[in-house]
Formats: sequence, C-alpha cells, structure tokens
Amino acid sequence: MGKIRVLSDTVANKIAAGEVVERPSSVVKELIENSLDAGATQLRIDIDSGGRRLIRVADDGCGMLRDDALLAFERHATSKLSDVKDLLSIATLGFRGEALPSIASVSRLLLETRSADETTGAAVEFAGGKLLRCDEFPGPAGTTVSVRDLFFNVPARKKFLRSDQTELAHIASLATHYSLAHPKKAFLLRHGGNDLLDVTPVETLRERVYQVFGSQTLDELIDLDMVERELAVVDAAEPETRVFGLRGFISAPQVQKLNRNSIFMFVNGRLIRDRLLMHALSAAYHNLMPPACFPFALLFLDCDCEEVDVNVHPSKTEVRFRHGTFVHDFVRGTIRERLIAARPASSLPVPSQPQPAAALPYSDFTQRIENQQFEPVPDASIPAERIEDLPVFHLKTSAAPEQRFDFESVAPQPVPDTHGPLPYAAETPQSLAILSDLRPLGQIHDSFIIAAGRDGLWIIDQHVAHERILFEKVLRQQAENRVERQHLLMPILLELTASQQIEYAHIASELERAGFDSEPFGNRTIAVKAAPAGVGPADIEKLVFEILEIAEGELRKVSVDDLRRGMAASIACRAAIKINMRLDQSKMEWLLSELAATKCPMSCPHGRPIALRYSTRDILKSFHRI
Ligand code: ADP
Ligand code: MG
Repeated sequence: MGKIRVLSDTVANKIAAGEVVERPSSVVKELIENSLDAGATQLRIDIDSGGRRLIRVADDGCGMLRDDALLAFERHATSKLSDVKDLLSIATLGFRGEALPSIASVSRLLLETRSADETTGAAVEFAGGKLLRCDEFPGPAGTTVSVRDLFFNVPARKKFLRSDQTELAHIASLATHYSLAHPKKAFLLRHGGNDLLDVTPVETLRERVYQVFGSQTLDELIDLDMVERELAVVDAAEPETRVFGLRGFISAPQVQKLNRNSIFMFVNGRLIRDRLLMHALSAAYHNLMPPACFPFALLFLDCDCEEVDVNVHPSKTEVRFRHGTFVHDFVRGTIRERLIAARPASSLPVPSQPQPAAALPYSDFTQRIENQQFEPVPDASIPAERIEDLPVFHLKTSAAPEQRFDFESVAPQPVPDTHGPLPYAAETPQSLAILSDLRPLGQIHDSFIIAAGRDGLWIIDQHVAHERILFEKVLRQQAENRVERQHLLMPILLELTASQQIEYAHIASELERAGFDSEPFGNRTIAVKAAPAGVGPADIEKLVFEILEIAEGELRKVSVDDLRRGMAASIACRAAIKINMRLDQSKMEWLLSELAATKCPMSCPHGRPIALRYSTRDILKSFHRI
C-alpha cells in the first residue's frame, strides 16, 4: 500500500490555523474583517485575559442563514468568491474561506447569528474543530462569534503567547487601525471592565484621528487630502485608464521615530505591510529627515481591485501591485509635495530628539495599554451579559489619549472630550515668507549666522543653508540639462572595485548629466576629466565614490529620480561653504536671501535642520514679560 494519505479536514484545518491564527490578535483581525465584510456598522469586541480566555466580536451585519452558519466552518467555504476569475478582483477583506474553520479547530467557538430577514437564526458550537451543537437562535439580527480558550488543544502554541498585556496591546492596535479605516462605523473594545477604544460614527477620517489620538497629535499631522492619479494601461487588450487615490495623514519631518511602528498603510481598506510602499514613504522623506528615522503615517491607497493581488499570504497582510513602479512613484511624489509645501520651521529650544518607539504599532497608545494594570476579572463576570443584549451599544465617553508628540516646550493643552466635535480647523503650516526679511547681525564661531527677523531671533547654520541652496540649484540645472562644470588640468584616476565598476557602467550617463566628464581608463580604472563646478579637487574622488554608493541602493534598484537627488545632495554638500569660515555682511545677506528663495529652507538635503528660531513670544516669556 502506498504511503501517501489525504489528510482529514480536522488535521488540515489545524495546519491552516498555524498560518492564520498566530496569536489572539489574528483571531480578532479575522473576526473584525468578517464583520466589516458583512456590512456591519457597529462592532463590539470583548476581550478577557489578553484574548486567551475570551475573544468576542459582535456585529449588526447581514447575519447568516442556518445552513450557511454550518457551511461557514467547512474548509474553503466562503460567500465571497465563486469563480477563479473572482480572485482577480477581490473587493472583500476575506476570500479564502479559511478563518472560521481554522479558529474553530484551535478553540471553543460559539457562533450566534441571525439574518434580518429571518425570525430565528442559528447558534453553532465547536470545540477543537468538532461540532457540538447547532440550535435555533432567537436573538437580535447580526453575528456574534465568541472564541474561548484559544489554543487549549495546541499546548505548543500556547507556550509562545506573550503576556496578556502584550497580546491585548496587539489587539488594541488592530482594532484602532480598523477604526481609522472605517470612521463611519462604531467600534467598542472592552477588556474586563475597561473601554480601551470607544468611538462613535463620524463623517471624516480627520474626526476619527481626533477621536483616537486627540487634538495635539492631529495638529502635528499633515492632511494629504485626497490625491488621485491616472495610469493609462497599455498592456491590456483595450487601453484603459486606472485611477489611484491616496489620502491620509503624515507627520512633519521634525517628528522622528526610531522605527517603523507608527506607519500604517491600508490598500483598499486592508491593513498591510508592504516593502514597496514603505520604501516610497522613506523616499518621500529622503533628505528631509535623517536616514535612520521614520515618520508617523496613516496612508490609505485605493485602486481598482485588478491592480492589486491580495492573495499573497494566508494572513492577507501582504499584497503585490500590478504596476509597482507607478504606485511607488505616485505615493512618494504625493507625500513629498505635501511635505515641501508644509515647510516646517524649527523653533528654539531645538526640536526633540527622535522619539523611541515601542516594539508595537501606535507605540504610545498600545504601550499604555501594555503598562496598564488591569483588575483580574472574576470568571462569573464574563458570560454575565445576556447574549441578546450584546449588539446594543452603550457607547460611553472616555478620555482622549495622551498627546503623543511633544516637541514644543509649551505646556500641553488639555485635550477635550473624545467625542466632542473638532474644536477648530487645523492651522495652515507656518509660512516661511518671514525668512525673506532677516537681517544678519553677525556670526558665532565663524559658523552660525545670527539674524534678527520680524518675529524674533534666528540662528542659521551657514554650511547646511548653503548646501540647501546649492542642492536646489543643482537639481534645477540637471533638469534643464545645463550644469556648470569645471575642467581639470590633470585628469584624476580612480580605481574601482568590480561592483563599483558595474555601477559606474550603469550610471555613466547620469554622471555626465551631473557635470562629470569621465571615461574608463584600462581595467577597473576611470579617468575623471571634469567635475561639477564648486567642488574642490580634493573632494572629487570622495564625491564619485559617494555617488557610486548611492547608486548601489539597498532595498530596490534606486530610481533615476532618487539617484539624481542623491547626486545633487552630495555635490551640494561638497561644494557648500564650510563652517569655521568668516563671512562678511554682504555674503551673509546673500546667503539668507538665497535661502529664503528655496523651496524647503528648513532642512538640509541630508535632513539636518538649517535654522533655529527664538520667537519674540518665547523671548518675552523668558524675560517674564508675558
Ligand atoms: P472568508 O471571510 O474568507 O469568506 P471565513 O471563514 O472568515 O472566510 O468566513 C466564512 C463565511 O462565513 C464568509 O464567507 C461569510 O459568508 C460568513 N461569515 C463569517 N463571519 C460573518 C459575519 N460576521 N456576518 C455574516 N457572515 C459571516
Ligand atoms: Mg473571513
């Protein structure tokens, strides 16, 4: 007899559960997604012991007929796909038909559901994947799934669970993100007696951000509004136009996080982690923020379902774009434009250091939950509520979260009630027109220019200011193909490594465009005969190697645009006036007026601040005059 056997469904479900159900928050994710797919407008999530003891998600969605309620636990049973063609245009969050059977195979699960059209619904109970009962259910329309004793029959998995607080923090972060993606729906997350998230329906994402994070955070964020871009698809049988939309919030460059945990991306309403989008985001902040720092971002990308393949991973957290480069450049370009338009000014005292981010998303929010001490909940209190009562929401007002960003030394304003209306429209970012009438007073250490302005005192780093001016000038000249170059009396010979030689061949034409005149000179050697104007002979060698390094990139092939920006930044840095250099009055005046004319006068191409401002108000305050 052969050795190969087809696994029973019970075993297959347990294997699938390994991928789908990693921890309590994965259960919450699948259940929330099902409720959203069912058209629910109110979602209530009850958790006990970090989800170990109980996860219950109740919704007021479409509910299920009795037969469907049973069928839902069959492997690959779904109402969301019928044909393989449907896989190309998935508009629902679920589609694999794996979640319910997987969760049921590793827990004790009770599903109670009634469709609004029927007088009775069904209550179905499973333990470790075995059906225990299927009764009539007379309760309210909608669906409630209660998952108890997760992994009770998979001790190995249970051992990997972290503390209740950590698991709860994951759950809270997840519920928060889905609440941000669906401002018009009510979300209530309760752990024991505590409401961790309690948001009523609002019209806009802005209001939801306010409900979740409070007014101070909202003030520090830049609203992308809704930006749309069309893509003409020529490879289709009939040429078509596809529309991509991007909206959400991003932080100004001075909000600097040490890791990516404050970055949230949704593609067609689905929370995902995607390297391409992540790269587009960092590229947008390139030169505005130091390289090892990350912003806060809440991005919603919407496109035709055909443009994105969501069937990449069982947990559905990864996607693949059909036109990846277009998506990348659209996201990067849109964010960058908004960042440059917002032009942040640094104030004195210096902007805060990068804020450490916890190992979890929305660090401060979830961290607080992790640190919070919860009263142990007596067993009896869990099933105490009558199931019929569950979908009825009594949304309580809870305090707004603490403010997350604190880079102004001004005392924090009290945050108004979470569910109050937005108190005011966000102010437009401070205009930097004030830079144009700065009067230089002198230098400190021959390095920093002190200037008096309409609204206070300014200190300007002369090197980075000049770097910014040259950076924009070089980019302009490159775009117009008229760079200034200097011919060298003697060519400089540079020896390259094998990989540098490959990169050199790739970017030779770009080097020329940037003002270099170079050619191969024997094996692995190049001769540089001309270089961009302003770069001292001693710096030319370093500059070429720096550019080759930029071209090598890391994550994905560096785009031409990135390469050009990188080259311009390096050239500007090498050609800019240095610190420890005395400048006369006319030079300082020239520098400040040129700086005022740049598009982004507040940070150098490498992300360092250029100017610090001590506002008149701060001066008055420091002298106790106000
Ligand atoms: P999928 O979501 O991939 O279809 P699931 O195993 O998560 O697979 O769910 C199976 C089916 O059960 C769904 O296709 C849907 O028809 C039904 N279902 C699950 N949860 C709900 C709910 N909360 N409300 C209504 N129907 C639901
Ligand atoms: Mg599902």
